[in-house]
This record gives sequence, C-alpha cells and structure tokens, in this order.
Amino acid sequence: MSKDFHDQGPRRVGQVKEVTSLANPIIKDIKALTNKKSREESGTFLAEGLKLVIDAIELGWTIRTLVYAKAAKGKPLVEQMAARTVASGGLVLEVSEKVIASITRRDNPQMVVGIFEQRWKPLKDIRPREGETWVALDRVRDPGNLGTIIRTADAAGASGIILIGETTDPFSLETVRATMGSVFAVPVARATPEEFIAWRKSAGVCVVATHLAGAVDYRTIDYRKKPVVLLMGNEQSGLPDQLAGQADALARIPQQGRADSLNLAVATAVMLFEARRHLLLLAEGK
Ligand code: SAM
Repeated sequence: MSKDFHDQGPRRVGQVKEVTSLANPIIKDIKALTNKKSREESGTFLAEGLKLVIDAIELGWTIRTLVYAKAAKGKPLVEQMAARTVASGGLVLEVSEKVIASITRRDNPQMVVGIFEQRWKPLKDIRPREGETWVALDRVRDPGNLGTIIRTADAAGASGIILIGETTDPFSLETVRATMGSVFAVPVARATPEEFIAWRKSAGVCVVATHLAGAVDYRTIDYRKKPVVLLMGNEQSGLPDQLAGQADALARIPQQGRADSLNLAVATAVMLFEARRHLLLLAEGK
C-alpha cells in the first residue's frame, strides 16, 4: 500500500490530485480493494456512484478518498462532496475515464467513486428492543444474496444483520452494488456460531429459524412477544443442527410446484415482511 493511501487520518489536511496514469500507486491501492485481503488490511471499501457517496457522507460514514472522472468536474454535487471530503481530511482524485473504468472494472463506469472506512457493529452492543427485527445469516455465500438481503432489511425496517460463520464480505464491490446504498443504513455484525449462541441466551430475543423441515407455518407465529431474530440457513446446506437447535420456532414457508426451496434472499424477504407486518398492525392498534 502506498504511503498516501495509508496516511488518510482525520487530522490530515485534505488535498486534490489529478491522476491519469494507471500505474499511479494510489490508483493501484484503490484497485486492490477488489480483493478481500486488501479491504481487511486497510479497513476500507469502495462504493460507486454519486448518490451512494452522498448517502454515505450524509449518514456520517468516513470517506478516505473521493475519485471523480474529469467529465464530472464542476457539477455542483460533485464539488460539494469533494469539499466535504477535503474538509474531513480526505483525498480527492480527479482522474481520466480510463482510470475510473479500471477501478470499477466497468466499460461504462460511474463518474464518482468513494473509498470509505468499514464499519462493523460489535455483537455485544446489540441489545434488541421491543418491536425490533434482526436477521441472522448462517454462512451466506453469494454476494448478490447478501446485498439483496441488506437492501430488503432496510426496506422492511429491520434493525440489522448478524453474519454467522464464514461468510461472503458485505464490503465487496458486488455486495455493495447489490445493496443499492443500504449498506450505509443497515448495521452489520459478525459472529462465530458459538458467539451467536452465547449472545442469544442473554439478548432476550425470540429466534425464529427457517427450515425446509420446519414444523410451523411462518404465518402462524407471534412476532410481537419479544424482539425477533430471523435465522436463515446457508444456500446449499441449510441450517446446521447446532443453530437450528437454538430456535424458539422452526418456521416453514409453504410452497407449491416442483421447486424444493426458495432462494435465500427471497425467503428472507418473505419472513421479514411477515414479521414486520405483525408489528405494524400492533403499532396501528390492531
Ligand atoms: N438445500 C437447502 C436445505 O436443505 O435447506 C436449501 C437452502 S435454501 C436455498 C436457503 C435458506 O432459505 C434455507 O436454509 C432457509 O433458511 C430458507 N428457505 C428457503 N425456502 C424455505 C421454505 N420454503 N421454508 C423455510 N425456509 C426456507
């Protein structure tokens, strides 16, 4: 990693640089963020598009570097974001279209890209309150599924996501794209299965696990008694007994036709909107 990239502390005076060479070490570091190892080492990730960058900054995420294509220069919102990046000690790069295309690996790239500090919610800080719904995902593998679930959790009014075991990275380019910006609005925590089991014992939650062999129709569950954690299984193998055994209810979404299961993100959406529907009815006094 280049020195410039590492030195983006909040106290550093921001600056604007013009870059046209793909060989520039800062550009190499930014491109490396497509690898999980580089994201972990730097604690940062890439978000593409002006709307996402504005949303992230408005929500208080720390921007380390703002990259924009020359064609976006002078646009009022781009200038505003550049000024805010500089004011918070970040770096602003004005680059050629060739450079921004190589960062995002797209032929028709977004004109603006932001590099932000990752944020993980510590599991111990999650104390679900009445009326909250959380989603716990066991070993989710597919970035598109995880991104869609984060976006859906945001839309359904869920409080956050807990990733259990070895999972795909919520800060990968593909996942962030699929969240459509919700990655900045939905807290994400991570835990081993053992940590999750220990946490659930003291968190005062009702764990509703979904399982193809579930005994309970998901529509008959009372989602209002306690804060709910919807526990969803891995795409290939479903929930292991170690986790399914922790559930207060094993729920099944009745299906017709020949499909043996629903896609994980679709099943999560069905569960989330049902759980939230019960809570909305309660809030409306019904
Ligand atoms: N072959 C896997 C299995 O045997 O569980 C299929 C996993 S499915 C693609 C991924 C997850 O979505 C499941 O573990 C479960 O959490 C949820 N799911 C999918 N369809 C479901 C259904 N009809 N009822 C309950 N949960 C379902």
